[in-house]
Amino acid sequence: MKIADKTTSAVQMVKEALEKAKKYSDYHIFVSLNEETALKKAEEIDEKIARGEKVGRLAGVPYACKDNFLSEEGNTTASSKILEPFKAPITATAVERLEDEGAIMIGRANLDSFAHGSSTENSYFGPTSNSKDKERVAGGSSGGSAVAVALDIVEFATGTDTGGSIRQPASFNGVYGFKPTYGTISRYGVVAMASSLDCVGFFAKDPEDIDLLMEVCAGQDPKDMTTLPDYYNKENEISASKIGIVKGFGQGLAPEIKTAYESEIESLKSKGYEVIELYMPTLKYALPVYYILCPAEVSSNLSRHDGVRYGFRAEGVESLEDVYGKSRSEGFMPENKRRIMIGNFVLSSGFYDAYYLKAAQARTLIIKEYEESFKKCDFILTPVSPNPAFKLGEKTGDPLAMYMEDVLSVPLNLAGLPGLAIPVGKTKDGLDLGLQIVGPRRSDKSLLAFASKIKEEK
Ligand code: GLN
Repeated sequence: MKIADKTTSAVQMVKEALEKAKKYSDYHIFVSLNEETALKKAEEIDEKIARGEKVGRLAGVPYACKDNFLSEEGNTTASSKILEPFKAPITATAVERLEDEGAIMIGRANLDSFAHGSSTENSYFGPTSNSKDKERVAGGSSGGSAVAVALDIVEFATGTDTGGSIRQPASFNGVYGFKPTYGTISRYGVVAMASSLDCVGFFAKDPEDIDLLMEVCAGQDPKDMTTLPDYYNKENEISASKIGIVKGFGQGLAPEIKTAYESEIESLKSKGYEVIELYMPTLKYALPVYYILCPAEVSSNLSRHDGVRYGFRAEGVESLEDVYGKSRSEGFMPENKRRIMIGNFVLSSGFYDAYYLKAAQARTLIIKEYEESFKKCDFILTPVSPNPAFKLGEKTGDPLAMYMEDVLSVPLNLAGLPGLAIPVGKTKDGLDLGLQIVGPRRSDKSLLAFASKIKEEK
């Protein structure tokens, strides 16, 4: 990662990033840009360098921040109408830690409204285009973040991954995207989607940059009770020798993804890794389990948006009940409402046992199955998604088809495991192809080291 020093100035880096962001404005990558403050911060860093003062590990590095991280600077919208305009009174811990090291947020990246989606088409501000084909989706929900890195606008971007929202857009745009072990990075100040699944993570051009970002951000935060003590900066790296592949995971894949997967397996074998076939029969329940538990938590987390406490309030209403009803129905996108309805349904008395409870039990089986599998191998390699980037509009009329795109990305979220999307090539039409490396809990540092190693070995 290029950082500001005597040879490269922070102002120069930030100016270039802002120029590129504007050049690609028709891609809908950014919801807003922080021109003035970003340049001011860059000047301060350059002055420090000129005075010979110590600067942070990310001095002057321009980054894009997914617009569901709160920051006292500018507005946070979560790409929704209901949070527009919302001026946050606090700054997310992750943002604070990055900026304490000198990183400079040049703007807020587009996402599916409230991170609900797999294409960024659910954004109130319009869909982000894919970096290789403007007629195709960027993936989602962190589409803006992925494309900002893929088009070289910024050095890195933040994202959140509840069910694939970092890894899938990373794989659709040929960059690395990392979802850490649940609890590694504080979610204080991040707009909650499904709290038992949400993770903060990063997009970058290589695993070493992600390692540095993890070193900066990992660790306990008294403001987020789910954070783990900092194991990341203390982890003893294991060197991987056994790689698991999941039996049956090759089914239903687009031919070019299947070929890329098979050739990566062959290449690992040729480099001396032992490839082990795993039988994981409960993984096929991961998608339905996710689409019960996630909406259940979404319906609870979104109940705070009532037209009174934050952002948008509908006009011309008479009763308090109408303020709630109309603000919510006008402020939420259709996908937000779908999740609220599914969530309320699976939690309602009479259906709770049949849906929510059953899904929670199945989640435990999935966790156990991963635990058993990691007794046999160091990491698991799978595709990220069954298809490369699809056409804009292709799946918007069929929510189930959109959910099916997540079939390979959600399983590890249910188990709280780390996963890294790695770029592995292109389709004949030039679309990016990605695979993911999944590790046991708290193996994050070793996982990134393994990714660096196989990248070097290429
Ligand atoms: N595509 C998944 C969903 O729509 C994942 C979203 C996410 O990780 N934020 O639920």
